Amino acid sequence: MNILILGSGGREHAFAKKLSESTKISNLYVAPGNAGTDAIATNLAINPTDFAQVKETVLQHDINMVVVGPEAPLVEGVHDFFLADEELKNIPVIGPKKDGALLEGSKDFSKQFMEKHNIPTARYQSFTTDTLAEGKKFLETLDAPYVLKADGLAAGKGVLILNDLEEAKAELEEMLSNQKFGSASSTVVIEEFLKGIELSVFVLTDGKNYKILPSAKDYKRIGEGDTGLNTGGMGAISPVPFATDDFLTKVEELVVKPTIDGLQKDGIDYRGFIFIGLMNDNGNPSVVEYNVRMGDPETEVVLPRIQSDLLDLFEGVATQTLGDKSYEVTPQTATTVMLVSGGYPEAYEKGKEITGFNTVDDSIVFHAGTTLKDGKVVTSGGRVMAITSFGDSMDEALEKSYKSIDKISFDKMNYRKDIGFDLK
Ligand code: ATP
Repeated sequence: MNILILGSGGREHAFAKKLSESTKISNLYVAPGNAGTDAIATNLAINPTDFAQVKETVLQHDINMVVVGPEAPLVEGVHDFFLADEELKNIPVIGPKKDGALLEGSKDFSKQFMEKHNIPTARYQSFTTDTLAEGKKFLETLDAPYVLKADGLAAGKGVLILNDLEEAKAELEEMLSNQKFGSASSTVVIEEFLKGIELSVFVLTDGKNYKILPSAKDYKRIGEGDTGLNTGGMGAISPVPFATDDFLTKVEELVVKPTIDGLQKDGIDYRGFIFIGLMNDNGNPSVVEYNVRMGDPETEVVLPRIQSDLLDLFEGVATQTLGDKSYEVTPQTATTVMLVSGGYPEAYEKGKEITGFNTVDDSIVFHAGTTLKDGKVVTSGGRVMAITSFGDSMDEALEKSYKSIDKISFDKMNYRKDIGFDLK
């Protein structure tokens, strides 16, 4: 089979690596990809949200399946575009259509969905410019901290958590009346603050059947001890030690099954990944958010643990036979540590030569923001590489990741030295 992966990050390199191991693969393409995917697949310099370009590429390379990495093409309707096109409609797309992608594209929609299907989540109400005064009154009924969420996609920056009521009211006004996050904040969800410790559970579904993929915990802040600015993610661990069998059974019964059933009841034919962000409050799960694609860097620890043929699972998604597919996961722990450009997540420089990564033999080097320039691998983004290792324990895996990192260098390279610190 000829497969096209859309995207260019560490997540897409992890997809490419796993799919390249499939016995069913003939040709593997990544668009636009990075220097890592270039080494194991063919990179195609197209924009994943330019659907006319995607179509041309798919026809030119005789693609049999498209795997969508990031959320933007899904929210913008790449799957719907395929279904509506005579030449593309029989080519499966792994990723939901626009209706399912709303679970991530609109926080108001996802909260309504959870409420309707009795899925545990924080109590909430949504407000628009017309109901700003009611929004302020609703804030008065809640206890600090106050959680304000822009309804639409805001590059991971649309959630504000504030301790002061007056500040929360002022921010609500900024979001609604002054469009702090553009049209993404023309509706704002205000919700109760959830206590507990966060983790993510990933589900692959064909709309009827599902497989629960390994759980993972990521580290979002730039600074050690989870301090400083939010990033796309500085590292991840899988499995999550506190995700006990008992907790995961609750997640399956209270969250996963009602989510799959709810999608069916609402007439949403969902084929792809569901990323469920959860709060574990004393052993009880509550949904913080849905994403309609895999997480990055969680993919870099989740996929390497899956021992089954990923392409076979994707074929199950396409033909709604996922329930018949074999699915094995290694019990070993996987850890990943992200190498980032100095200055990230604020201003940083690009084009720095990366050395030593080819000498790493005890870890998997997933490229994120890298590109080839004059035959050399150079940095091209804030998050540069994710260094994934296995171990019988989290500490063993982390030790391997950090030893491998010692071999890699580029100007102003930065990384967190405390991934997993809260799980020890
Ligand atoms: P992401 O970048 O994770 O996709 P997002 O913009 O989609 O972020 P959310 O995941 O909904 O937004 O929220 C971002 C973070 O804010 C969460 O990962 C969580 O740490 C925190 N958060 C969100 N809602 C709550 C809540 N109700 N109670 C406590 N913390 C919350």
